[in-house]
This record gives sequence, C-alpha cells and structure tokens, in this order.
Amino acid sequence: MNQAISIDVGGTQIKWGLVSEAGEILLREQEATEAQAGPMAVGAQIADIARRVYETAPDPDAILGIGVGCPGLIDETREINMFSPNLYNLDGTSWRDIPLVKHIKDALDALGLSGRLDVRLENDVNAMVLGEFLYGAGRGVQDMIGMTLGTGVGGGLVLGGRLYRGAGSTAGEIGHMTVVPDGPMCGCGNFGCLEALVGKAGLIERTLSAITARGRTTSLEDSLDALKALDDDAPQMIAKAAREGDAVALEVFADTGRYIGTVLGSLANLINPELAVIGGGISRAGDVLFPHIEREVRARAMKQPADTIRVVPAEHGNDAGMLGSAALILRPDAAGIDAA
Ligand SMILES: [Zn+2]
Repeated sequence: MNQAISIDVGGTQIKWGLVSEAGEILLREQEATEAQAGPMAVGAQIADIARRVYETAPDPDAILGIGVGCPGLIDETREINMFSPNLYNLDGTSWRDIPLVKHIKDALDALGLSGRLDVRLENDVNAMVLGEFLYGAGRGVQDMIGMTLGTGVGGGLVLGGRLYRGAGSTAGEIGHMTVVPDGPMCGCGNFGCLEALVGKAGLIERTLSAITARGRTTSLEDSLDALKALDDDAPQMIAKAAREGDAVALEVFADTGRYIGTVLGSLANLINPELAVIGGGISRAGDVLFPHIEREVRARAMKQPADTIRVVPAEHGNDAGMLGSAALILRPDAAGIDAA
C-alpha cells in the first residue's frame, strides 16, 4: 500500500511520521527545528529526515513523497512559504517568500534522492482539516468546515469533497471573520475578529475582565498570575473551573460558544455544509462549550442549513495534521491538487 512521509514544521519542533494510504501512522518522531540556522537549513533538515525514513523503511518503494505542513501563508503553487510569523531568518525577521520546496528538493538532490520523492507543501491548519476530512470526524461528508481553537483560531474548508483554497490560496481564515465591528484588536490588524475574542489571549482577557469588573467570587482568583502571564495552560484552567461549576468560567465559555456559533451560523447560511469539526486545545473544554455553539448556530442560521449542519469535536487531535500532510501525496484528489 502506498505511503508518504509526513512532516509538521513548528517554530520549535519538527514532527514527522510515515503514513499509509489507509491512514495508519507507521512511524512517528520529533526533533528540535533548526530554525536558528535559517530556512535553507530547515529545508536540509527536512530532506535529511526523509532520507533517514526512506533508508530504514521496510518497503521504501511504497513511499511516494513528502507532504509538509507549515504554519503561515503558502502560495498557490504550494511551493513557497509567503509568510510565517513564527519561523525566522538568520537576521531575525520572519519568513517571507521562502521557496521551501526548492530548498528541500535541492537538499534531496545532494543526498542522491533526486526525483525519487515528490514534495508538497500546505498550511498546517489546512493539513489538519484534510486529515479530519479523510480519516477522522469528516469521513464520508462532501462539505465541511474545520476549525482549530488554540493560541490562534485556524480554519479550513472542504467543498465538494476537495480542500478549497480560493483564488490566492488563502481561503478558510475563519479566525479572521469579524464578529464585533468595534471589538478588540486582532493580530491581523483588524478589530473584533473571532480570533481576537476566542483565541488564547482573547479568552484570557475576557476572563480577567469578568473577574475584576464584576467583583464576583471565583475559583479563578487562585490562577490570576497564570492568566495575567498568558500562560499556555491558562485556557485549560478556565475550562477546568467551568467544568467544576465556577459561574465566571461558565459564562466565559458560554460567550466563547456564542461567538463561535455566530460565525458558524453565518457560514452555514453561506455554504450549507454537513459538518463543522472543531479541534485544538480549547476545544477540549467539551460540554461547557459545544452546547453553546450548537444553540447559537441554530439561532442564527436559517432552518434548512441549521438542520443540516452537525458541530462535532475533532477525532484525531494532534495526529490530524500528520495524516493530512501525508494526504497531500497520497490523496491529491481530496487535497485539491490536480495531477501535474
Ligand atoms: Zn484577525
């Protein structure tokens, strides 16, 4: 059965695996990203990982190529990293217009693997959505919205059974849909984006103002330092307090669900999908979040699209990106890639 090497490039760690066409993860490992040495070094690192996997695989002839998921904007040829704020050049600036696929292919040439392995690059959230579509919660549907809730709010669309990229390959940025016209400033420069309200910083900011402005008793007063430091664990602390019945935390998650449901309700009216799949750390809040999303979607969308859409948690967690990156090679039809 066909296999692909899957690479997930993060600012601090590169995770990789070997994935079969059936969606089995045959191997998984990770190591520190050589980000401090610049993009060419990262390309060489990815090629060397591929060489190691290829040389030790039981059936190297089954490996068709390398699918790479990377944060940031990827161009329409899926070869160039147009902008990745969390990956840096030698001079400390963020990656812009980095020909990452060329760097990888040049390094493969130098390793004597020239032409043997195809290389395809995709935005990491699109890869996650593709993974859930083919191997997770989205199996069998044709039209689906995918979202990740974490530090940022990512999104992707599957329309007619294919990943949808739009005219300039940037489609699916659900996190930057405006929810509150004069709301908090977002990292993208706009105000009141979904991400500015329910991303990690927005969630914590709303929690802090709920605690201080209303002077209510809450178990979260014990976690004020972690909240103020925007600690990575802070969203889970708020979720835990909510599950334990803390009124302030419950209200913060109810509002979070309303904001997300408002956006999904509009999207349901626009594209009439069968499914919205929500993953990422904050989505693990589960029962204190999902019913509020559902209720708001039903309240906002017209009857027919509201009756059609199901809102479900992602099935694969962190593995979805690995499965989706491999699918760039193994399932080009679903990845929306036309045969060369
Ligand atoms: Zn934004």
